[in-house]
Amino acid sequence: HPALRLDRVERRFHQGETALTILDGADMVLRAGEMVALVAPSGAGKSTLLHIAGLLERPDGGDVVVNGVSCGQMDDAARTQMRRGTIGFVYQFHHLLPEFSALENVMLPQMIRGLSRGMAAERSKELLDYMRLGARASHRPAELSGGEQQRVAIARAVANNPYVLLADEPTGNLDPVTSTYVFDALTALVRQAGVAALIATHNHDLARRMDRAVTLRDGHIVDLVLD
Ligand code: ADP
Ligand code: ADP
Repeated sequence: HPALRLDRVERRFHQGETALTILDGADMVLRAGEMVALVAPSGAGKSTLLHIAGLLERPDGGDVVVNGVSCGQMDDAARTQMRRGTIGFVYQFHHLLPEFSALENVMLPQMIRGLSRGMAAERSKELLDYMRLGARASHRPAELSGGEQQRVAIARAVANNPYVLLADEPTGNLDPVTSTYVFDALTALVRQAGVAALIATHNHDLARRMDRAVTLRDGHIVDLVLD
């Protein structure tokens, strides 16, 4: 099975009298270990697509298939359960919990899934070491730099060994040098974990370093050639 398959996905919004069609039979296949850039102007529907792919939002039509499991007809509880076990998210702003340490932030999703404190701590230490944040494990988010915060957020996103990693402008808030450093760390982790990653970015340099790029056109997901 591909890690993620979007099958004829539809999504439209109603703004007063007008209907705004964002996705109009969008198809996509994302395979394990693959990094795909999602490049499109603001308002094109990148966040909508990521939310639907990540089982946060329900499409108006079509199906989202995660590792062979059709999620289109699932109720909210089943989708939440599915999401926690199979999807990781990284946002432009880290969304780390301010009162917890870096280590605890990475541990939490694992403990919510039922892992013991000891097991979660062990895996979280490994992930933070891998992200070169071993020395920062006991720091709270406010004590970390922007790039360090994003690396913690990336470690947290893969903590439960997801099939799919979805990122919305993960380096959009960082300066160019930090951005490259964080992107390198993200790439290393994605390759090592064999996770399928869909990464929305405005940064064409980063997009070029991924396996391929796609954009949204007339409600479809189409290949994008970056020059
Ligand atoms: P992007 O992430 O590419 O900037 P979005 O997915 O956030 O785009 O939004 C795509 C379009 O859909 C925008 O025009 C936005 O205003 C509209 N939109 C997004 N969410 C909603 C909503 N819940 N209700 C109405 N319109 C929405
Ligand atoms: P938890 O397992 O902590 O209860 P959820 O299952 O609700 O979290 O959400 C899983 C992931 O989806 C988290 O990274 C969370 O930040 C994100 N998330 C939840 N709801 C939304 C939303 N409405 N928009 C964007 N991201 C969300």
